[in-house]
Amino acid sequence: MGLSMLFREFSAICEQLEGISGRLEMIDLISRRLPSLSDEELPVFVRFIMGRIFPDWSPLKLGIGPSLLYEGVAYVVGTKRESVIETINRTGEVGKAVELLLAGKEQTSFFSEELDLVTVYCEFEKIADTGGKKSQREKLLGVRKLLANATPLEGRYLARIMLEDLRIGIGEGNIREAVARAFGIDSAVVEHAVQALNDLGYVAQLAKTGEAALRDVHISPFRPVKMMLAQQGSIMSAIEENGTIAAEYKYDGSRFQFHRRGGLSRLYSRKLEDVTNALPDVIAILNGSTDHDIILDGEVIAIKEGKPLPFQAVLRRFRRKHGISEMQEEVKLVPNVFDILYLDGETLIDLPLSERRKRLDRAVSSHVAPQLVSGDPVVVEEFYHAALDEGHEGIMIKATRSPYTPGMRGKNWLKVKPEVDTLDLAVVGAEWGEGKRAHYFGSFLLACQENGELITLSKVATGFSDEQLAEVYDLLHDRIISQSGKEVRFEPGLVFEVGYSELQVSPNYPAGFALRFPRFVRIRDDKDITDIETLGGIRERYQRQPNS
Ligand code: AMP
Repeated sequence: MGLSMLFREFSAICEQLEGISGRLEMIDLISRRLPSLSDEELPVFVRFIMGRIFPDWSPLKLGIGPSLLYEGVAYVVGTKRESVIETINRTGEVGKAVELLLAGKEQTSFFSEELDLVTVYCEFEKIADTGGKKSQREKLLGVRKLLANATPLEGRYLARIMLEDLRIGIGEGNIREAVARAFGIDSAVVEHAVQALNDLGYVAQLAKTGEAALRDVHISPFRPVKMMLAQQGSIMSAIEENGTIAAEYKYDGSRFQFHRRGGLSRLYSRKLEDVTNALPDVIAILNGSTDHDIILDGEVIAIKEGKPLPFQAVLRRFRRKHGISEMQEEVKLVPNVFDILYLDGETLIDLPLSERRKRLDRAVSSHVAPQLVSGDPVVVEEFYHAALDEGHEGIMIKATRSPYTPGMRGKNWLKVKPEVDTLDLAVVGAEWGEGKRAHYFGSFLLACQENGELITLSKVATGFSDEQLAEVYDLLHDRIISQSGKEVRFEPGLVFEVGYSELQVSPNYPAGFALRFPRFVRIRDDKDITDIETLGGIRERYQRQPNS
């Protein structure tokens, strides 16, 4: 062999990228490296450089939280966990800390094996595969093995990849661009293929064989596709822009994607997690409504006495691992199907909505969300009020000519709902609570995003019940990356929806804004941090405030 890419080379490329700030220069550097990679290396390289290990749709999850990683590092360098944490506090970040610790480690073993890119990937696969009782211990052994063979610089990037945040300042769009450039393919074609296949690694592999392979991509059951997203909009402007539009109720529940082939069915959450086992009742309903090989998009809501329940009731079911049958008694879940992406071997995402809707109506006999097609603002307005009267969140307005664009938030889907002053923000830090809440977190530091970076904005400490604090603690304690005094920092991942009375200009936070009277509304663990509010969006809200 001899020609395979060493992990040392990969790390050197990452370091080089970290030192570049120009977007074009980064794209150029990556695109020059891609053509010489083997078929096996190409997808791994592309995913690693995005700070990813497995495709989104893959059932494999690495499952290494910060605390397990620290334990592995501590073992390999022969120190205590506390001193790992102390080093992270000093360097401000886990990758640099691991690098520093490995550099200071005494040479204890004489043979260490050089890591190459594919070996590292295979180790990750093994780590992800371990489940069951002993899994934490097995995973730890895997982490130790990798770090024991790593140079300090390799350690920097191994640690960051394990936590899926490479911190080299390059977004997915740029890496897509690099793939297009490397193989001389139109970047729109690459983008479309990524939308369908949901794995830029595999798309790169196809791109290497030529543009034809990318033009001919299909989606297939059991490989979930990213969900199409919506923007804020208004009835008037939607009709002005499109003429006739399609409107549906906006159900306040949880998004799902239903896949079925040859009588087998699975259900995926908005984050594309497989939630089949948690929701047997929903699967049964959907199986009863179609015999086709099919992929459906919809929203599941909880119903009690004919009225929709608040959205938490649904999320609780999505998270549920035990006592599923008891839970089914308490809340009845009802799916509302509003789109179809695949039918009996045919990929439908490029058809206009009106055409997809016809197929949907033919292929699915019940639980299809009613749709109003109209160009009359008065009629649509009435529909909107009917939705609110029935206890729904508002309506969705959709362009009838629009294709289904996975993962895209655009003007083809608009949400219309009463203006509520809540924001979805990432939880990036906390302070320990006091008194009887001393073993939970008490106040949380929140961030919005701008160009893929998290920018802190405010704290929230009120609105939590004791139960919710315990739940939040469960979700966060394994994400601690550093601690000093009463303050902790988290590996970002969890999203809170937070209410407020007003946005204020504030020098206290890097965002330049703070929330007045912030209050916790709910955990949004159906969303990830790429879905949180942008700084631009917050500026716009500020402008719209009556007194600003
Ligand atoms: P938001 O979460 O506020 O950005 O609103 C978009 C979400 O509304 C989607 O991701 C769906 O989960 C949900 N939703 C509810 N009803 C519909 C519908 N009829 N069409 C599309 N999305 C819907």
